[in-house]
Amino acid sequence: MNCRLCGSTNLASVVDLGATPPCELFLSAEQVDEPEMTYPLHLRLCTDCLLAQLPPLITPEETFTEYAYFSSYSDSWVRHAKNFVDAQVERIDPRFVVEVAANDGYLLQHVVERGIRCLGIEPLSPETGAEVRAEHGPADLVVANNVYAHIPDVVGFTKGLRALVADGGWVSIEVQHLLTLIELNQYDTIYHEHFQYYTVASAQKALASGGLSLVDVELIPTHGGSIRLLAQPTEHAGEPTQRVADVLAREKSAGLHELAGYTEFARRVAGVRRELLRFLVDAASRGKTVVGYGAPGKGNTLLNHCGIRPDLLAYTVDRNPYKHGRYTPGTRIPILPPEQIAVDEPDYVLVLPWNLRTELAAQLSYVGEWGGKLVFPIPHLEIVEVKS
Ligand SMILES: [Zn+2]
Repeated sequence: MNCRLCGSTNLASVVDLGATPPCELFLSAEQVDEPEMTYPLHLRLCTDCLLAQLPPLITPEETFTEYAYFSSYSDSWVRHAKNFVDAQVERIDPRFVVEVAANDGYLLQHVVERGIRCLGIEPLSPETGAEVRAEHGPADLVVANNVYAHIPDVVGFTKGLRALVADGGWVSIEVQHLLTLIELNQYDTIYHEHFQYYTVASAQKALASGGLSLVDVELIPTHGGSIRLLAQPTEHAGEPTQRVADVLAREKSAGLHELAGYTEFARRVAGVRRELLRFLVDAASRGKTVVGYGAPGKGNTLLNHCGIRPDLLAYTVDRNPYKHGRYTPGTRIPILPPEQIAVDEPDYVLVLPWNLRTELAAQLSYVGEWGGKLVFPIPHLEIVEVKS
């Protein structure tokens, strides 16, 4: 295996989560009686360029369905997108905005509202970047949110961004931050659709591979801790801001600019699994009912890695109607509409999209009416009483 960024063969194991199905392949009732493919889920670190990566075992075409969850079904995502557009209009006053992997338009709707010309396109290669530029002109702002981890050809994709952006323009990328993933045990965000996991240090190298330079970075709360990378074409980019230096310093002090910072992670992941299983087995022994809330992709990494099946988690619920009547991949836990929780009044609700904790704690406050409790598995098992 070679590093996809620098070609090195020096790949060290960070954590091996076993073999699981692709986390967005929810099963229909018929598929529950059919076999299911699993793929190894083994995160490795290139000790030369420090890019954390999974081998590209599934194709990107199979992977973009997760946006059904991100977009309109989450209030906080829609608000996040509006705040981003407001800030960028204030900062650079773009005349033409292109969003890559634009999902259902939940971000660009706010650009349209402002009367700014915009375009949503599929993920890029250098050729498609040049084609879009030739047809529509260079973009003042290229937005690539929640896609930079999803493209195995990171060098080609980055060259595509460079081809598309105006010489003095900006590229804005939001991607999960490996620093918080490691520090807060967010191992369930490792799944086959995420081919690479970035520190600011490795993102700088990835951007440089396509002719872009990191100028600024913001730490943002999405996915439990993400980075917004603001880059410009290398030949036109200014000096990196103090914020870039500050985040790099934090990563360095966490040990993430060398292999040493990654070696304890697998042990802590095993601890999360033991805590959750101990709770679920104990609840089952005491005759308590536990159901899930949410059926996000990351929930399936957790459920499969822990080996949780309907005997320990009777069902989960989700706001996305596409998932109703389907089953979680690998673990085959039924997915029902959220209203089922109030009908059954379970003793515990295990919250799988823990990154929306504040939003969901408010939404689920009714669980307190019958004395139910919320359970958060990550970073450590936490059982929370809710006031109705
Ligand atoms: Zn490398």
